Amino acid sequence: MNETPINKAHDEKFCSDCGGIIKIKAEICPKCGVRQMSPSIQLNESAWMSVTALIFAILCFLNWFNLPHWDKDLTVGVLMFSIASLVFSIFSLQQKRKGKIMSIISIIISSITMLIVIGRL
Ligand SMILES: [Zn+2]
Repeated sequence: MNETPINKAHDEKFCSDCGGIIKIKAEICPKCGVRQMSPSIQLNESAWMSVTALIFAILCFLNWFNLPHWDKDLTVGVLMFSIASLVFSIFSLQQKRKGKIMSIISIIISSITMLIVIGRL
């Protein structure tokens, strides 16, 4: 019956391991050294879609400079990249994932790429 009452401030949380009171922003508990559920890891996980979209968009963008040399295979390949980029970026935006700006850039680049491809068909 000698326990100290738990007074947790609004900017504090309980350590996921030892239960000690630590700052909400703390990544590692200063008492036991256990890493907390890091919001930055969740952020990276949810940003992979927009990053993937951007990578595909960059592949499309690089091919713009090679436009006079596009043969049928390359045109189809670039079209695939732009569709993949568009799908990933739209999903990313719909699910309100991180990397909104990357997704928007990807949509713009992939849309222009599709117009170029359509113009060549
Ligand atoms: Zn701890």
